[in-house]
Amino acid sequence: MCGIVCYNGKKSAVEVILNGLKSLEYRGYDSSGISVVTDKIETLKRKGKLKNLIDEIDKIDNNANIGIGHIRWATHGEPNEINAHPQVSQDGKFSVVHNGIIENYRELKSELEDEGYNFKSTTDTEVVVALISHYYTDDLLEAVKKAIARLKGAYALGIISEYEKDKLIAVRNESPLILAKCDDGIILASDIPSVLKYTKDVVYLENGDIVEIDKDSYTIYDKNFEKVDRDIKKINMTLEQASKGGFEHFMLKEIYEQPEVVKKTLEVNLKENKIDFSDNSIDQDKLKSIDKVYIVACGTAFHAGEVGKVAIEKLAKIPVITDIASEFRYNDPFIDENTLVILISQSGETADTLAALRESKKKKATVLAVTNVVGSSIAREADKVIYTLAGPEIAVASTKAYISQLVTVIMLALDFAKKLDKIDDETYSNYIAELKTIPGKISEVLKSESTVKEIAKAIKDDSSMFFIGRGLDFLSVKEGALKLKEISYIHTEAFPAGELKHGSIALIEKNTPALSVITQSKLAEKTISNVQELVTRGAKIFTITVEGNENMADFSEKIVFVPKTLEMLYPILSVIPEQLLGYYTSLEKGLDVDKPRNLAKSVTVE
Ligand code: GLU
Repeated sequence: MCGIVCYNGKKSAVEVILNGLKSLEYRGYDSSGISVVTDKIETLKRKGKLKNLIDEIDKIDNNANIGIGHIRWATHGEPNEINAHPQVSQDGKFSVVHNGIIENYRELKSELEDEGYNFKSTTDTEVVVALISHYYTDDLLEAVKKAIARLKGAYALGIISEYEKDKLIAVRNESPLILAKCDDGIILASDIPSVLKYTKDVVYLENGDIVEIDKDSYTIYDKNFEKVDRDIKKINMTLEQASKGGFEHFMLKEIYEQPEVVKKTLEVNLKENKIDFSDNSIDQDKLKSIDKVYIVACGTAFHAGEVGKVAIEKLAKIPVITDIASEFRYNDPFIDENTLVILISQSGETADTLAALRESKKKKATVLAVTNVVGSSIAREADKVIYTLAGPEIAVASTKAYISQLVTVIMLALDFAKKLDKIDDETYSNYIAELKTIPGKISEVLKSESTVKEIAKAIKDDSSMFFIGRGLDFLSVKEGALKLKEISYIHTEAFPAGELKHGSIALIEKNTPALSVITQSKLAEKTISNVQELVTRGAKIFTITVEGNENMADFSEKIVFVPKTLEMLYPILSVIPEQLLGYYTSLEKGLDVDKPRNLAKSVTVE
């Protein structure tokens, strides 16, 4: 999820690796570390900022020419020094850095423990180094091949060993990894920015590739262990362009990462087509004693929570109350030991949500947190934690974290429904099958970008815009309205479509822009009538609806279609054009998309 930089060549490995890691810092991380090979493996790891590592870098040999470095964004285990990478084998002979998630690490860990291996960290990564040392006889490459044959999941790996002092081995599977060829050595890194200081010649490794580097020569093997040649590409990007992955802004990059985020969320939490949050979810006995759920959050996370309410009530048949975290404590919530409180927070540090957590625990509720940051305050204090797998989100306006929250709460609803026997097998399987199509469908929706750009052009000079929908569509437009508001500074209001005529329709005049979302079949006709009421009063209408719904053509200036899916899952698709609308309107207005005025990424004040 974060970054690796490894080097084998004639320069100081410490220098190349630290320079590389510095240029990956923008991603956000919680600890860092480095191993070099001298006559043995020397390792230094520190919690927190890279500066903490740099301040003590003299503790390892600055003249070593081979090394592996890492900045960690924890997915498994607290962000502390022991869990930081590199992970070193118990005999100290092998050292590994890893980006990604080893999905089957629990099985592998207990297998190795049975054989007497003594694990020190709580990371998934340590099983990789344990397996390599387990399989090693006299050939590092062979041991690596055997080890990776056992791994399931996403991994970019850098590996060194005291037994083969000139060798660096790297593997790429799903997590990004590039090989960069310098005059006097080879760098392996997660991303272009970390090599630009040294070279512009880069090989994009493919899934399954293993690279063996002996000083300045390298050999690449593909997933069938056949030797392959991969083209060297010249990189013509500035450092800033490279850190945004070639996108103009982090927000756009993160919007485009959403299919991958959903894929990862499903891969990690599905085992044989069944939802399995292992012991991070609420167990069956406890669930049976729960008579109501509160979902508490702020901003975008609250919008994900509102979809969670619909999903839990519909599927698991437990009543759910949603509340804004800053209001919750003062609303005298009905909480006792039979209440489950679900808290949603990207950063896990949101002050109001943390206060809601403490209040809930005081009143003896069970608290489950859904957060993106391992080891955050909310994660530490909750009874159970489910981590969203969005990876570090840099743009202030949340997009990929929201999508991962949506998918997670819907999966949680299915998990509860199954445990409470409230869902039949066919409906359950149908949901799982349909969830698996969502990454592809998000990619389809992203193709509507050019239509969204036209909408952005049409509204950029407006001072106010309405967003309307019914049911889940109302929840979608609430998020769409917030997205536009926070980065384009256009005043927006989201309304349940039927509510406008109870007052606010007075504000509609010629050319007032309004966006309608219409995906819920039972409510479509009703929303269309409400749209007509606006058209009659001169509003200009833009619509997001389902492929095949041609009813809106007469009323809408522009229409964006989303592919068909289950009604419950439409919020995941309909929000994509809304996110793009926020982005392109902000861009049209020449605003600072990634850092909108007055806002902070992590809101740590009440
Ligand atoms: N899953 C690994 C861990 O939690 C790697 C995290 C990363 O990619 O930074 O240690």
